[in-house]
Amino acid sequence: MANRFPPSLRPTPHFISLKREVFGRVTQCRIGHCFTGEYYSQFVPSEGIDCPCGEQFQTREHLLRECPQYEDQRHVLEAVSRDISLPEILGTKKGIAALAEFLESSGAFTKTGKPRQPPKLPSVEDEPELEDSDDDDG
Ligand SMILES: [Zn+2]
Repeated sequence: MANRFPPSLRPTPHFISLKREVFGRVTQCRIGHCFTGEYYSQFVPSEGIDCPCGEQFQTREHLLRECPQYEDQRHVLEAVSRDISLPEILGTKKGIAALAEFLESSGAFTKTGKPRQPPKLPSVEDEPELEDSDDDDG
């Protein structure tokens, strides 16, 4: 079954899953269940609550509006809401579209806070050995 598609079509499922990961992060970010110190402080006491940029308490607002780690990507949010108003970014269609773009390019709100590498494409070596029952009959 898995071998039916020509190799040129293989990247498609990975591409879709990468997008799905971004939209998962959009949802997590909107409802506040995301990788931030703010969330950890309430639910994951073993995790640190500070931001790699040096901010003592990493909040969702900090990451979206101020964190220097994401300065290069922030213009996407500012284009929709000049002062990056959270209700606008998290609660309007345009805001959410911008948020998705921001999250995809910046890697913000991932566990590491860095952009994800696209999954490695499968190679021939990863293919399971096919059972070759015809030859076993001898
Ligand atoms: Zn920061």
